[in-house]
Amino acid sequence: MPRPENITGGCLCGAIRFTVTFPNARDWPPETNGACQCTMCRKHSGSLVPQNCGFPKTNVSPPLSSNPTYRNYNSSPTASRGFCGTCGSALSFEDKSSADFIEINLGAFDEEVLCGKRDEANAWEDEYGRHVPRIGGAGYELCYPKYHIFTENMIPGVTDDFPGPKYLLSKEDGKAFTKKPSEFRNDG
Ligand SMILES: [Zn+2]
Ligand SMILES: [Zn+2]
Repeated sequence: MPRPENITGGCLCGAIRFTVTFPNARDWPPETNGACQCTMCRKHSGSLVPQNCGFPKTNVSPPLSSNPTYRNYNSSPTASRGFCGTCGSALSFEDKSSADFIEINLGAFDEEVLCGKRDEANAWEDEYGRHVPRIGGAGYELCYPKYHIFTENMIPGVTDDFPGPKYLLSKEDGKAFTKKPSEFRNDG
């Protein structure tokens, strides 16, 4: 889809709502978008393959931290993770060395953003159930992971079979590869 004016998201209880804008052509589709299987991302999100996308803080309004129920947990000396203190939704990751950016957990974006609007008028039913076509949505452009990091934690047969570049740890710690981490052998 073409660059949207804005996309919206929020926590499960609705106390925290936010809008992300894309004022510059280079902002869309977002490139700082990756799936991380490190243990901290997993614990924080409760997901095996948590995926965040980074945005300039100036493109996110209102600032997540301005919300009364927003809480920040310092998960390490260099990073913090945000969540809603009422419903517990995991929402964000912030690296203290890049204070102008905030990574937002992609599952926090609204269903219409991720999947498109429900086209109830054209829905139909068959032996599989009720099919509701979707209109629009930015799911692919917003969510296709540009890289997979901390793949040393991949679970064979469950989370190890993604296309695209993989890194054993972070992107700074070694070269990218495409095979499964378990296919490497120590030939030295
Ligand atoms: Zn909430
Ligand atoms: Zn992580």
